[in-house]
Amino acid sequence: SQRIDIPESREDEIGRLGKTLNNLLDRLETSFFRQKQFNADVSHELKTPISVIRAQVEEALDSDQKLTSEQKDILTTIKKQIDQLNNLISQMLILAKADEKNFTLEKEKFDLEIVIDTVIEEMNNLAAEKNILITKKIIGENNFRIKADLSLITQLLLNLVDNAIKYTPNEGKIKITLKNLDNYYEINILDNGIGIPKKDLNNIFKRFYRVDKSRSRDYGGTGLGLSICSWIVKVHGGEINVESSLRNGTKFRVMLPKK
Ligand code: ADP
Repeated sequence: SQRIDIPESREDEIGRLGKTLNNLLDRLETSFFRQKQFNADVSHELKTPISVIRAQVEEALDSDQKLTSEQKDILTTIKKQIDQLNNLISQMLILAKADEKNFTLEKEKFDLEIVIDTVIEEMNNLAAEKNILITKKIIGENNFRIKADLSLITQLLLNLVDNAIKYTPNEGKIKITLKNLDNYYEINILDNGIGIPKKDLNNIFKRFYRVDKSRSRDYGGTGLGLSICSWIVKVHGGEINVESSLRNGTKFRVMLPKK
């Protein structure tokens, strides 16, 4: 930790100052730790009630012959908001993980292309609501075995595709390319959406950073997605970067080591 190295025997003013500072540092560290633990616990505790509410809303929606179209609309809105809340909680739980002192990756072998297919399948409904087409293209040798943390890599891709859908207008196009390089796999997620202003490009990977609050509010979201992506890529020893042109579209490029 960042304690100050001062001999215990030293009893002059410097000695006392050192002890006081160390005391303060210890208390700060404990309090940071408690705060983080509290965040993790709260997020965890929120999961159950929210999933119960969601199930009830679904059930109410399924009994649709008894509902007026107005009631249906209300329930659908509630469901969407619950999904957002759920998303926020999942992101907070991952951030809590990122803050853990002795966090370790749970690596396993899997096929990166299959994960991409799963993510596309999962996001297709959301894309279809906006008439957005998601396509996939393989470049080079067709073998994408990787050793990595499956749930984190899935979350990484979900976040990037979710953003691509969110920030692309109706009838837009999203293209995912997957390329086999010597020691890395390269994944590109391209959209022809609203783009990101140049001045914001350096900040979008920071926690809670959102481009232009007013524009972001229309799209929902938390400002956590990309900071999580950047952490996931970093703990895997990879790289993520972005190229964007305002009103034309955005490309996120992820490099992941094969092992
Ligand atoms: P959010 O929850 O706001 O989407 P993110 O951390 O995922 O948070 O993204 C940060 C900001 O970067 C977003 O608010 C958005 O303005 C911008 N952004 C992210 N992905 C895209 C994209 N594909 N196209 C345009 N803007 C994007």
